[in-house]
Amino acid sequence: MPNPHRATAITALVEQDWQTAGDAYTRAAHRDLSDGERGDGSGGDVLAPGARDRPATGLSFLLTAGLCYRLAGAEDRARYRALTVAPLALDARDHVRDGVERAVCQEFVADAAVVRGAEDAAADAYDRAERLYQANHPEEPLSVATAPLFDAANGLLLHASRNYRGVEWDDLHGPDPEGEDYLAHRARYKSRTVPEAVDRVLEAGQLHLPRGSTEYNNDTYRCPDCGEHDVNYVGGETVCLYCSVRVEER
Ligand SMILES: [Zn+2]
Repeated sequence: MPNPHRATAITALVEQDWQTAGDAYTRAAHRDLSDGERGDGSGGDVLAPGARDRPATGLSFLLTAGLCYRLAGAEDRARYRALTVAPLALDARDHVRDGVERAVCQEFVADAAVVRGAEDAAADAYDRAERLYQANHPEEPLSVATAPLFDAANGLLLHASRNYRGVEWDDLHGPDPEGEDYLAHRARYKSRTVPEAVDRVLEAGQLHLPRGSTEYNNDTYRCPDCGEHDVNYVGGETVCLYCSVRVEER
């Protein structure tokens, strides 16, 4: 079932109401953290053994909430969201069995440090994530990298970098999908690019919408700002892929 608070957050991003977006992402996070069980019985909450896909989505929402609060000038709330992510991620890191999962949890700690503007702590945390990847080579790195847990860990960077169309999924990983550096590359890459993406959002004073499903050269809609016909469908909104404003029928 889709998280209704996330849809509220997306609408608030369209309306550039950063405070409301931060509030809605916070609610979305707590929902996913507290009840991760899916209809088929898979998933699990933040404490349950096994997959932590949905709680990881909750952590991702907390990071986005923090960024929205920074845009709103609500620095205390931004810091509290980021400070909430770290212990939850560390708790998960220390209680999952799989080494690669521990590394992903460490990425959340690092991303959270970026969101609260703690550059040195972020660099240390990304280094730690890289060492965890280097110590744990899965048999099939590519299938690991495409799992929902990693989607959640990619969330902040892919979303924030939409401001300048800067980062594609492939950029996150090393050149050889079977190589030992394939996943470790993530930590080094994020160490450079997450701080940049966050800075650019804050400089622009705007966070664009995350990429949902996209359609190019749509016959029905045009963007009132740039005139393009490339559409982004996300969270119940239909917006220009580039400007994140609602499109008009043409
Ligand atoms: Zn546009």
